[in-house]
Amino acid sequence: MALVTSKEMLQAALEGHYAVGAFNANNMEQVQGIVGAAVEERAPVILQVSQGAIRYAGLEFAAALVKTAAAEADVPIVLHLDHGTDFEQNVRCLRAGFTSLMYDGSKRPYEENVAITSRVVEIAHICGIPVEAELGQVLKASDGVTEEEVIAAMTDPDQALDFVQRTGCDSLAVAIGSVHAMKEAQAELDIERLKAIHAKVKIPLVLHGSSGVKEESEAEAIQYGIAKINVATMLNQAFVRGLKKAMEELPDNVDPRKWLVYSREEIKEVVRHKMRLFGCSGKVTASGFVSPKTVHPAVKLGDAEE
Ligand SMILES: [Zn+2]
Repeated sequence: MALVTSKEMLQAALEGHYAVGAFNANNMEQVQGIVGAAVEERAPVILQVSQGAIRYAGLEFAAALVKTAAAEADVPIVLHLDHGTDFEQNVRCLRAGFTSLMYDGSKRPYEENVAITSRVVEIAHICGIPVEAELGQVLKASDGVTEEEVIAAMTDPDQALDFVQRTGCDSLAVAIGSVHAMKEAQAELDIERLKAIHAKVKIPLVLHGSSGVKEESEAEAIQYGIAKINVATMLNQAFVRGLKKAMEELPDNVDPRKWLVYSREEIKEVVRHKMRLFGCSGKVTASGFVSPKTVHPAVKLGDAEE
């Protein structure tokens, strides 16, 4: 089926108290592993293109991989930009056919984040495409962050309400204790803070850096507004694990495909496990996940009047 936007997919997740997995992909085997898992689990899925993926594969190439996979799959798939760096990149992705955008102004001063997010939202909504924004900062483990820094960068619930009202963003990435690129699941989320944000902000909330979060904590967060969970590091680890296993089992092999199928399979298993944990398995019904409401008003057919 064709790509869908993340608007209704995340709204359904929020209302149904489950989360949709947003998985990062850089190459064909990763895309196929993720989509294969979604088809087997009957789960809606978001495939996202990171800044690293854009540098590695190129924007158009990465988008084409996801579009091709979506055309062949019978589950709803979103093509999402992860951590969009500026207004211009969001416009380029809009043109390239992305069905969900993100502008990450979390490192900028608050007013600048509000201003640029608002511009991205304005242009994306003209095309019926939703926008994720970020407030507070989800830091990166490779930058050697301390616990104090993680706490200081957390999202303020009152500011979140002001931000969402002023920008009109469709979903919000919140900093509640997770850190990007952690190699082990050790972090616990600040659930009280999440509850306070969820009480004020009624849109779907997004958890970044989930590979470093304990699974019990992730499951709890889904009950308080987390409707999209990003998974990247864990998939990279799965890819490498599969490759190492293949090289051990088939040391004399000279056909890369015989090794890469191990990686693809390993990714598929990790994604299936996450989909069950997030509660999005089985959410695609026989009649399809997406209702006619999904079509944005801007692209609905009008009456036959002058
Ligand atoms: Zn992130």
